[in-house]
Amino acid sequence: MTDSFCTTWPHGKTAAASFCFDLDAESAVLSFAPQAASRMSVMSHQSYGPLTGVPRLLRLLEQHGIKATFFVPGYTAYRYPDTVRAIASAGHEIAHHGYLHEPLGEADEASEIEYLERGIAALQEVAGITPVGYRAPMWELNYRSAALLHERGFLYDSSLMDADNPYELATGNGVDSIVEIPIHWALDDWEQYCYVPDLFGSGLIESPAKTREMWSLELQATTTEGGCFVLTAHPFLSGRPSRAAALSQIMEEAVGAPGVWVATMCEIAAHARAQALVPRLLTQPEI
Ligand SMILES: [Zn+2]
Repeated sequence: MTDSFCTTWPHGKTAAASFCFDLDAESAVLSFAPQAASRMSVMSHQSYGPLTGVPRLLRLLEQHGIKATFFVPGYTAYRYPDTVRAIASAGHEIAHHGYLHEPLGEADEASEIEYLERGIAALQEVAGITPVGYRAPMWELNYRSAALLHERGFLYDSSLMDADNPYELATGNGVDSIVEIPIHWALDDWEQYCYVPDLFGSGLIESPAKTREMWSLELQATTTEGGCFVLTAHPFLSGRPSRAAALSQIMEEAVGAPGVWVATMCEIAAHARAQALVPRLLTQPEI
């Protein structure tokens, strides 16, 4: 009998873990508040990611022997080409994250296609890479997105929250699918650390010790159940010293767990694809 979810893992491992970095930089602000481009301090909060956070995070990843996945908006690639090339040359995966981090919630199909194609072109031009992975900005996927991604050769998406394990997300034509690698807000550093007055957050910046505890509990519980732990961090947030130190402890814990396969999102998606899973069709609720 064929399964709908990927629950077996390679190399004798019993669970999987992946470390993702969304390299939003300024694009996460400019997509909804273009007037903030003139706010120098706000822009510097965002540019900390590619300028200061990424070098620190690359050192940590190398120290732990981890290959990660960086989701890079096309705008960020053009603005920080050397950073994106340094990530790629260190052997990490570069994946698609919109052009200017455009939210898809209210985008029409033509706009969604434009964001996809501009993002692909930017990653090709800057890093010579055609991405196979996609993550919707703000994790706001549309019911049409899987088909648009499949048509453009994508292997996987990572924007949905209805499962603990990867699955095949049907495009709706009865034939095709893409791999979905689920995520969740509790495994995103944005909710813990993101605070920019008038723009983001509640004003509460959490302690890295509390964040580490949350993520460690989730890592242990998810991997005990044979799931796929997917952590999402942003270099402008988790690239700061004490947060990077907390993240380093989670990396150490994942790498040190004998049953956990630490892999890039692309490697996990390729493994899931090889399981010949039965695709799941997710339909929009009728109201
Ligand atoms: Zn993002």
